[in-house]
This record gives sequence, structure tokens and C-alpha cells, in this order.
Amino acid sequence: MIPVSQALAQVLEVTAVLRAERVGLAAAAGRVVAEDVVSGRTVPAAPNSAMDGWAVRHADVASAPTTLRVIGEAPAGPARDHRVEPRTAIKIFTGSVVPAGADTVVRVEYSTTRADAVVIEQAEPLGANIRLAGEDIEQGAVVLAGGTLIGPADVGVLASVGRSAVVVHRRPRVAILSTGAELVEVDETPGPGQVVNSNAWVLAAAATEAGADATVWPIVRDRFEDIRDHLADAATADVVLSTGGVSVGDYDFVNDALAAVGVERVFWRVAQKPGKPLSFGRRGPHLFFGLPGNPVSALVCFYVYVRPALRKLGGHRRLHLPMVQARLAVDTRKAKDLTEFVRVRLDAAADGLVATPFTSQSSGVLTSLGAGASLLVGPAAARTLTAGTRYPVLVATPETLARTDSGSFLD
Ligand code: AMP
Ligand code: MG
Repeated sequence: MIPVSQALAQVLEVTAVLRAERVGLAAAAGRVVAEDVVSGRTVPAAPNSAMDGWAVRHADVASAPTTLRVIGEAPAGPARDHRVEPRTAIKIFTGSVVPAGADTVVRVEYSTTRADAVVIEQAEPLGANIRLAGEDIEQGAVVLAGGTLIGPADVGVLASVGRSAVVVHRRPRVAILSTGAELVEVDETPGPGQVVNSNAWVLAAAATEAGADATVWPIVRDRFEDIRDHLADAATADVVLSTGGVSVGDYDFVNDALAAVGVERVFWRVAQKPGKPLSFGRRGPHLFFGLPGNPVSALVCFYVYVRPALRKLGGHRRLHLPMVQARLAVDTRKAKDLTEFVRVRLDAAADGLVATPFTSQSSGVLTSLGAGASLLVGPAAARTLTAGTRYPVLVATPETLARTDSGSFLD
């Protein structure tokens, strides 16, 4: 049995970032950039107006009110070959290129139009209402650093610098194998002694959320040969997740089956609760997680070990779940010498976040890890977690934080 920190370090040590592939801009959102994207251009390319108004020389309007002769206009589109001479103004529109000779734009609200002149009623500071060339992006600037998860604004930036395709990390492929003689598929009705294979769907959802492509395999019975053969077939995936059959029972064949297909064990059993029987191995670059069958144990192991591995494979910079510190609401007993992941609800209080453990910490109670639940990390050495003490909490879902915001962002 090894400590959580060691197990996690070993997982990340044998996990290598996947190679890159090119995708079109339409498919870029949600992918992770595999190399620094450098802009070959300046955006905007030329100084342009932030207002509808008048392109002028600041020296001419400093002592407003003053009247300037109107010598033309600068509509949107390519710059015209014109120039603001002393005592003149060119009508300009938002986004239009600022004509040569002008150093300031006076907004239209500060002016009154005459026949072929404009009265500037009020001055603007030098350089007012002009967006400089390169204000958004300088030529040669890194607009997206490798490891960045591409969001909507990033897609816009890529478009602005003329990238119709971008090099991203391949998504990890995950195969999910559920073992257990008691399991039935989701569209079957479980009889006595049977349970619906929920793990596969939990893990598929969690893997997808972590940026992977997940495939759910049919249920495998607790027979060594079946498990071995299915593992062998699934082993083309980057990551194989099995659930069940990894403990020390008579029908727990996963570890033997892993060995039989040539998976080199990295560790088995971690000093944690839930999820003690977790098994982890590799065959070349392929990773194998033997997750416990209990739904909560499987998902906790996913969050703590599998998710960071998938994120690393997928090129993400941030591997772990977000963490906050929260004050524990009530004294809570914990297993000695095991790091305990306590399922808690977070609430906001005047002095920070408060974590209240769910009444049931049974590893069969999956509802205690649903929307709004998170994992308080109880240190291995402690026997009791004391009320009022602050502990780290892994934020499993954004829903967790819904109870901790302080109301509307509107007035
Ligand atoms: P095991 O790790 O095989 O001893 O399984 C522990 C418990 O987890 C069993 O009592 C099962 O009912 C439950 N379990 C195992 N596999 C699954 C699964 N795929 N979906 C839901 N529950 C499961
Ligand atoms: Mg079993």
C-alpha cells in the first residue's frame, strides 16, 4: 500500500503527453493548443476610430469651440488617400482608419455640423478615441500559449491572426470495461442480487468532461479468461478503465488478467478511503486503471488519479481538480492511516467556505457525489477531523460552487 501522493506522482510520471494533430477552426473550441501560436500580423493593422466623429489635429481643437473645414469622410473599409491638414476635419466612423495628419478623434456629440464645416464644441485629449495599430495583437506576439484550452474568444483571436487551422493535442481514447457477475445493462431490469452497470456511464461522462473520447464496452463476467481477453482487446485505447474485481476476493481477477496481457504493474492498493484497492499499470504508453467496483470509489479514483492522467495526455497545463479551503462544520471520524476523501457540501459563510459532510459516506451511495458535492481531503495521520479546522476541498463539479456565490452580479 502506498500513500496518495506517491500513487499520484507515479501515475503522472508514466503518463506522456499525446502527439498533436491539426484541426480546423470550427473544431478548435475545447481542444488544447499543442504549440505556441505566434501572430504573423498586427491587429488592428492600422489606427482606427473608436467613435463616430471627426478626425482632427489636436492643436486645432485645443481651444474649442472652433470651426474646421470638412474636407472629406472616412467610411469603413480600405483607407482613403487623404490627409487632415491644419484647420480641417475628416468625418470618421467607428472602425475606420484614422487619416494621415490626424492625431485625435472628436466624438460627434461634441460637434455641430454646418454646410461644409464643423463646429467643434468641446476638445478631447490628444489621441482620444483612436485605437492604435497593434493594440490587440502585436506582430510576433504569442497569442495562445501551448497548453491553453481553446475557448470562444481564443477562436476569435486565431481567426484574427489568419489561422484557419490549429495544432492541438489528440484527445485521449478511453475504453471502459465493467466487470462483475452481478451487473446488468442499463436497459435491463435488475433482479435480486443484480445491479445496473452505472459505473460505465459515470466514467464515460467523467472522461468526456476531462477531454477524452470514451467507449463503453459490454459487461464482462467475473471469469479470468473473459477479463483477460477483453482487456487484450481494449488495450489499443490510450487508457483502459476497468471497474470491479480488483480487491482480494475469490472472484477478483482483474490484477491477474492485467498481468496476463503484459501490463506492468506500477502499484496496487493506495492508503486511501474510498478506493483502497486501486490498481495501476502500463503497457508501453497505454495506461490501465483497475478501479474498484463501488460507484463512489470508482469516481473518487477517477477524480484523483485518472482525470489528471487524461488531462496530461491531452496536453492540459492544469491537471488537478480546483481546490479551495473550507472550514469543517462538524467533528468527523476518519479511518486512521488512510487519506480520506470525505464527501461534503460547500456553503458560503461570512468567514469563508463551510464544508458539511454528507450523512452517508458509504461508497455505494453515488448520490452523495452528485451535483453540488465535493471531496474534503482528510490527512492520513488524523483520526478525527475537527470542526472549525480548515481542510482542502477538491471541487468536483462547478455546481459545488453554486451554493457559495454571494448572489446576483447585478445591482
Ligand atoms: P467489486 O469491486 O467488484 O467487489 O464491487 C464492489 C461493489 O460495487 C459491488 O457490490 C457492486 O454491486 C458494485 N459494482 C461493481 N461494479 C459496478 C458497476 N459497474 N456499476 C455499479 N455498481 C458496481
Ligand atoms: Mg466484483
